Amino acid sequence: MDRPQAQQRVDACIRAHGGYWDKFQILARLSEELGEVASALQRLESLRPRKGDVDLAGEVGDLLFTLAAFANVNGLSLEDCLTQVFDKYDSRDGQAWKSQS
Ligand SMILES: [Mg+2]
Repeated sequence: MDRPQAQQRVDACIRAHGGYWDKFQILARLSEELGEVASALQRLESLRPRKGDVDLAGEVGDLLFTLAAFANVNGLSLEDCLTQVFDKYDSRDGQAWKSQS
């Protein structure tokens, strides 16, 4: 596997701070971070009360970091995963998006 540079940085950071969690712990954390992104967006859109500053970029960063950790422990390259999705939309599912607009 040839991991993208961002995944290599995440790997180095995690190893420097004690190592990886179990795969399912990382998956649970991924879900938690997604919830934090949703909460930040709701506060930015005034759908929930604000309790100080909202850091949507920081929450998206947490989510991406955790996604990279999840990919690392599962031996996945996020770039390869994205390439698969682009290939899928360019062929099989490309029409699905066009019909929704
Ligand atoms: Mg967070």
